[in-house]
Amino acid sequence: MISSSFSVKENSYCQYSKFRVGCSLLCEDGTIFNGTNVENASYGLTICAERSAICTAVSQGHRKFKAIVVSRCDQDKFTYPCGACRQFIAEFGLDIDVYSTRPDGSYERGTICELLPFSFGQSDVI
Ligand SMILES: [Zn+2]
Repeated sequence: MISSSFSVKENSYCQYSKFRVGCSLLCEDGTIFNGTNVENASYGLTICAERSAICTAVSQGHRKFKAIVVSRCDQDKFTYPCGACRQFIAEFGLDIDVYSTRPDGSYERGTICELLPFSFGQSDVI
């Protein structure tokens, strides 16, 4: 999944920020969906790679995810999903593993629960 997140990063549409992001999402059944960030001249319409991958998976009928791998730009540091994406990932389970990678293939891991403590979720609205 780390290599696929690197590959899909090449498809990033980031002409404004030049901040390339690739993401690979592992479903419970082993299926992997990829996503990349898609920017827009109206900046607020930009969608992150994580949400891109999740929307693709959900639209194909998948709802149970085990892990998500994020490959950001070419920075030599670990970065994690933005707040909006953390909320989006948490919608599908607080035990989803989130991996952040560096260009050398090294990674760090945390659960979405660790990245989004005291989260707002389904039990708050149902
Ligand atoms: Zn995001």
